[in-house]
Amino acid sequence: MKYVFGNWKMYLDFEESVILAQALVEESFNKEKNEVAIFPSTLAAREVIMCLNGSRIAAGAQDVAWVSKGAYTGAVSAHMFKSAGCKYALVGHSERRYVFNESDDDVRKKIEACLDAGLIPVVCVGETQEDLNENKREYRLKKQLMKAFEGLQINGGKVMVAYEPVWAIGSGKPCGPDEADSVHGWIKLEVKQYLGQDIPVLYGGSVNPENVVSYAARDVIDGVLVGGASTKLESFVKLINYV
Ligand code: PEP
Repeated sequence: MKYVFGNWKMYLDFEESVILAQALVEESFNKEKNEVAIFPSTLAAREVIMCLNGSRIAAGAQDVAWVSKGAYTGAVSAHMFKSAGCKYALVGHSERRYVFNESDDDVRKKIEACLDAGLIPVVCVGETQEDLNENKREYRLKKQLMKAFEGLQINGGKVMVAYEPVWAIGSGKPCGPDEADSVHGWIKLEVKQYLGQDIPVLYGGSVNPENVVSYAARDVIDGVLVGGASTKLESFVKLINYV
């Protein structure tokens, strides 16, 4: 079983999100084989979840607040997403880290908030181009993974990782499958040190219908997190069918 997750970011408005969700539900791709989930905007999430009702497609939040309730204007908690019907939440996406200045500590608090609420956090990690130039990929990933998982109590919940090199996101220049394969193996060993168990690790960064098989065919790559190519029916359906 592989995971195919679609992060719609801030690409689709309410109506476009509902139309795409309805169209996905009507497609006859093999939803039994893999776990498919979409991550709509917060505004569209509830309506999208209603469309997905009865289908095997799950929904997730693109981000959550780290507290469950209170005076936090503009924030939406993991508990609220859970009560609206979400199963997953992206945490620490590079756009949250680098555009909204979220720290590794913020990410950790959000992971804990997801687990408390019963959501499955998909913890995004990845090095920047600058890290890569300075030979600091392992340093960056180690830091992000340690902050995320050291001493974390999962208490029967589930966590996942998405390896998303920042330089590969939206750039049309994905990390090659051999390179991704070895980083995934390394990430799995790192995470096991902290959690004592294997967790799914997805690859994300310029995945499209043409290259998806080169990732999905690898045993160590448990699936893909797709941005741009998940926002169009034709390309997302192709992606799901090819995995
Ligand atoms: C993402 O934003 O998680 C992502 C992988 O984007 P893209 O597929 O567009 O590179």
